[in-house]
This record gives sequence, C-alpha cells and structure tokens, in this order.
Amino acid sequence: MDATEFRKFGKAAVDYLADYLENLRDRPVLPSVEPGYLQDLIPREVPQEPDKWQDILVDMERVIMPGVTHWHSPQFHAFYPTANSYPGIVGEMLSAGIGCLGFSWITSPACTELEVAMMDWLGKLIQLPQEFLNSSDGPGGGVIQGSASEATLVGLLAAKERTVRRIKTLHPEWDEGTIKGKLIAYSSDQSNSSVEKAGLLGSIPMRLLPTDDKCRLRGATLEEGIRSDVKKGLIPCYVVATLGTTGTCAFDCLEELGPICNREELWLHVDAAYAGSAFICPEFRHLMAGVHYADSYNFNPHKWMLVNFDCSAMWVKDSQYLVEAFSVDRIYLKHQHQGRAPDYRHWQIPLGRRFRSLKLWMVLRLYGIQGLQQHIRRQVSLAQEFETLLRGDSRFEIVTEISMGLVCFRLKGPDSLTKTLHDRLMARKKIYIIAATFRDKHILRFVVCSRMSEPRDIAFAWEEIRGQADQVLLGNNTGSDTPLSIHKTYSRSKTRKECPSNELKVNGITSGQA
Ligand code: PLP
Repeated sequence: MDATEFRKFGKAAVDYLADYLENLRDRPVLPSVEPGYLQDLIPREVPQEPDKWQDILVDMERVIMPGVTHWHSPQFHAFYPTANSYPGIVGEMLSAGIGCLGFSWITSPACTELEVAMMDWLGKLIQLPQEFLNSSDGPGGGVIQGSASEATLVGLLAAKERTVRRIKTLHPEWDEGTIKGKLIAYSSDQSNSSVEKAGLLGSIPMRLLPTDDKCRLRGATLEEGIRSDVKKGLIPCYVVATLGTTGTCAFDCLEELGPICNREELWLHVDAAYAGSAFICPEFRHLMAGVHYADSYNFNPHKWMLVNFDCSAMWVKDSQYLVEAFSVDRIYLKHQHQGRAPDYRHWQIPLGRRFRSLKLWMVLRLYGIQGLQQHIRRQVSLAQEFETLLRGDSRFEIVTEISMGLVCFRLKGPDSLTKTLHDRLMARKKIYIIAATFRDKHILRFVVCSRMSEPRDIAFAWEEIRGQADQVLLGNNTGSDTPLSIHKTYSRSKTRKECPSNELKVNGITSGQA
C-alpha cells in the first residue's frame, strides 16, 4: 500500500467510524452470534494475493459487526464505561502513525516529555498533592500505565522491594527469600479482581478484609488484620484502597487507612479506576480526602474521561522505588542524557511503550476542563434520572446509595424475580446490564456508560426494564437459555473461587469478571 492508497483507505475508515458511532443507537447493543460464528465467514488460510481494502471495509459489516458488543451504545449499561471520543480516536491514530516506542528518553524525547507534561496537567486538574507531580522538587511523578491492573501490580512490586530493604536493615542475618516469604498485603473484599491477581503475580498473599455496611474498608479492620498477621510472624507490606469499588462504587475510608499505613510503613496504593475521573469536578473531590497518605495513586482516563483504552494514570510519591524495583540495564539501553528526564521503562513492566500521552493531550485540549466536567456531571445526572424512575415504581428497591453513574437495584421479593427479569432482558438484547449479589441478594447494576447517552436513552432502558418486570410479575417467565454450539471446548482456567458467570462480587458473596 502506498501513501496515495493509504490516504483513501484512511479517509474511508474514518467515514466508516463516524457513521458507525453516529448511528450506534440503531444497532442492537448485544450480538446474536454463537461461539465459533466467525470461522465460517473468513477463509481458513492467509490470501495468496493481496485483498483490496474496499473489500475489507465491506467485511467489517459482514464479519466483524455481527460479533461486536457495542460498548459505546447508549443502551450499554454493564460493568463500567470504557472511554471513546473523536479526539481520543484521532490521538490513537496519530500515535499508531508515528509508531515510536518511548522506553528511554532518547528513543523518542517527545513521547516521554509529553507524558511528563500531561501527567502534571492531569495531576493538577484533580488537585493531587504537589509531591506526586513530575514538576515537584522531590522524586515524585506520574506515568501512563496500560491498565489499573498493571498499576496495582507495579505498586505491589515497588512495595515489596521497599519492604525487603527495610527489613534487611533490621535483620541483616535474614536472606531476601526468607523476608519475601513472610510478606502479606491487604485490600477489601470489594476490591477489583485485578487486586487479588496482583498478589498472585507478585507472590504476596492478598488478604481481602471485610467491609462495613456501606461496602467500605475501615481503619479498625485493617488494624486488626495487621495485628493478627504480625502475631503470626508475617510482615505487612502493601495495602490497596479503592475509591469507587467495582460492585457498588463504594469509597474506602482513606483518612482512616492512611495514617495506619504510614505508621506501619506499608505502601498505600489507591485504586480509583472508574470514579477517579469525577475528581476533575470540585464537588466530588471530598471523596479523595486522605490521598496525601498514599504512596501511589491511579485512575483510568480510559474509563470515564473520554480517552480511548488504554490510558491508566498512575502517580507515585517516590519514583526511586520503582526504578530500584524495575531497573535492569544493558549497554544498548544507555544514553548520554540519563538522569535528566525519566526513562519510563523503569516505571513499568514491559520494555516497549506506546505514545499514549498523545490521545490524552487531544482529549484535554479539545474538551477543555469545562467539556470534561460537563461530561461527568451529565452522566451522574442521568444516573439520578434513572434513580427517580425507579423510586416511582414501588415494585423495585434501590439496594445501595447511588454513587456516580451507578445504580444498584432489584425487584422486591424473592431473588428469582430479579433473576428472571435479568434473563428476560439479556434474551431480548435491547439493553445490556449485569447482575451482582449484594448481602445474599440478587441485584442488577445499571451504569450510565456511553458518552452519547441522553435522557431518552434512560427512558428507553427504564421502559424496557419496567415492561419486562410486568411480564415477570404476571408469571410469563419464558426461559432464555440457548444451547451453545461450540466447535471446540476451551477449558476454564483454574479459578480460586467458583463463581457464576456474568456476576460481580459485592460484599464478598458472588463474583464473576470485573
Ligand atoms: N479497579 C477497579 C475499581 C475497577 O472497577 C476496574 C475495572 O472495572 C479495574 C480496577 C480494572 O481496570 P483495568 O481494566 O484498567 O485493569
């Protein structure tokens, strides 16, 4: 393909995407295909002769779109949002076109320097304490990771390194293996599955502590956990607090947890993956009170701040701990400007890194603070509209305080009613919401996800839910189970907890992927 064809192909692809996004409301949010559907739609082998790009664009509709779950559809209310915006898409495109890797400053100075600047813009925007900023006098700074999961793991590995060094000075006679074998980390039973996974990957047991009646981790619980583990000869090392849990968007009590972590010299990582975007609005910032106690802080502009996946913003108070934990140098990685700007390869797990800050730059400039704040506020107010509709129907109950863009609700009465309602909604595919359990009760989670959501979409979802509730309560419970035809069986990977699929864990009861 030469530049002339690339111009045509690229322009046609942009037109295709603009049409797709503009007309998304008309597509069913959930696909109606079965596992293996795609194998019969494409040849079994690579083509001998090059295909035409025009044919591939046609195949986007024939092969790909039937199997797409439309995450940006205004009828998508599952999980949490994943961001998408025109400036974000163009940022992705420019990043792909330049195609540089920025693992050291010298491998593409603009890649490192724009990231340094953007992480400061963003840090100032949410009013993070100065010591987290790249522009601070100290060793703090921000970096873009690929996901909140990676940020939690990076924090854990830095915490491990820091703790091993500290204990070594107290017990020089202990070898590193002995110390590492005693380390223990903490989070709540509401934290995201990725937190437990970070413990698995980093070989530190992650103790999931119980939460209070508002699904928050409290200081006294952490204190008690630490006390009992120290008695057993373990070495507490790392705490992950969540601001905006996956299940109910609850906020752990940072002001209680922080002083304990600081006193006990535990690394405190704050995971604000979803809700963190709201802190660009002053009225939500009280929810991050206590952040100054943290050693690392993370949120995902790729969830709720209109920057396309992947863009997970992480700040640390002392980047030296990351550099010490991740530094593996080779002669071919050295350059004459070392030490004058971050070499971000030392702040992350992979070596290679994309020019992700470009899309952050596009979004921050093209929306401006006002545009971004308007987006968050509109989504929160749409969730409140849904809440009002629910409250007007006495057959439903709201099970937790509504928080940000999330409303958790159920049909009053036995769980079977809510389960059947969910089955009917999933079978009809007009909207996509997921189930969870909360204090032994089956609940549904309704999240305002799409940036295109409008009051009419909330009304549409409500009509669908209300109408299906009518059917459930009339006893018209047609099942939705469809037998699957699968060409090949993919064995389930080993799971530590057996959980029904498509469910989220809320208050340590039932779980699926989140
Ligand atoms: N943390 C929380 C609180 C989440 O809600 C999620 C996903 O929804 C994650 C972490 C995982 O985010 P990522 O996919 O960026 O790893």
